[in-house]
Amino acid sequence: MSNPSLLILPGDGIGPEVMAEVRRIIDWYGAKRGLVFDVSEDLVGGCAYDAHGTPLHDDTMAKAQEVDAVLLGAVGGPKYDSLDFSLKPERGLLRLRKEMDLYANLRPAQCFDALADFSSLKTDVVAGLDIMIVRELTSGVYFGEPRGIFEEGNERVGINTQRYTESEIDRVARSAFELAMRRNRKLCSMEKANVMESGVLWREVVTEVGKDYPEVALTHMYADAGAMQLTRWPKQFDVIVTDNLFGDLLSDLAAMLTGSLGMLPSASLGAPMANGRPKALYEPVHGSAPDIAGQGKANPIACILSFAMALRYSFDQGAEADRLEKAVERVLADGLRTADLLGQEGVAPVTTAEMGSAILAALDASL
Ligand code: NAD
Repeated sequence: MSNPSLLILPGDGIGPEVMAEVRRIIDWYGAKRGLVFDVSEDLVGGCAYDAHGTPLHDDTMAKAQEVDAVLLGAVGGPKYDSLDFSLKPERGLLRLRKEMDLYANLRPAQCFDALADFSSLKTDVVAGLDIMIVRELTSGVYFGEPRGIFEEGNERVGINTQRYTESEIDRVARSAFELAMRRNRKLCSMEKANVMESGVLWREVVTEVGKDYPEVALTHMYADAGAMQLTRWPKQFDVIVTDNLFGDLLSDLAAMLTGSLGMLPSASLGAPMANGRPKALYEPVHGSAPDIAGQGKANPIACILSFAMALRYSFDQGAEADRLEKAVERVLADGLRTADLLGQEGVAPVTTAEMGSAILAALDASL
């Protein structure tokens, strides 16, 4: 059987810096765990524009469609601010998401004990937190028609339309149930069925899909109550599934319960391919951080944890993903901090590469 394939798109700013640390970890898995990937690397964002005059070359797009998973660093930077909208670095990322039809956005909110003090909530509320929000990414009010600003009588009216088909709800619900099966078999679906017809349909379809997953305990909650519960006692949740708009808000809220942007991974999944694996793009939540690019200050953990998600969700290597997450936990518990994680006085920050080396050492120690 051929090796699993991975397309790496480091991108701009700190993207290449954090991805260099992921490359070392990928090499470690090949050398120490016999887990060899066919890795190819290409350009996306501003660097692709510099090389090809477009933020994503067609050949790169074609490669992304063929591989088992894509791992992206970050795109963007002030150098490209004046470009036409269609040529901006972010368009490369949006094209990947759209053409790969990545409809399920997975945003974990995981709090490492060593960083619990970083949260704006009380330590006991967030310590040990590990939840996953699945946000529908390709439909809903951000895409529904009609939309626009129209004249009506003697004033203007702004219109957006929340629209979901049964099949759109069905497929994202299945992604969430599959995820729940790999975790603690608990799924909470959030909508506003009390005031929105799209919410009524959402609830009906999710309930119907749930019949195919009798092992999963399914609950429903209105999204506004969900926001309150996420800040009151987030540990009551395991997997949450919700629409594009509510997911946008709730996933940011949940993610920031746990601290720094430099720690947050994400995955966007689409339909299963012929080999059964979902189309998949893994990327840190953060951007290209031009303010610290090229200085060795970037925290590589968000990108490293994105690779851990790839191990788990694309390559069925849950135990190896656990190993990598534990290695990250270990170095944090040992007190290593990149500059973005510094709170206490007297602790000197480590560089991007030093953090990567420490995680590799923790991986070695795990054998
Ligand atoms: P940003 O996420 O790049 O940075 C916000 C702040 O967080 C900065 O102070 C930065 O130094 C810090 N930060 C971010 N990641 C960090 C890390 N790994 N380690 C340490 N500190 C980190 O957001 P921004 O400043 O609003 O945007 C900068 C550029 O990135 C823009 O061009 C924007 O369009 C682009 N962007 C890209 C993505 C993406 O590629 N997915 C996402 C958001 C923003």
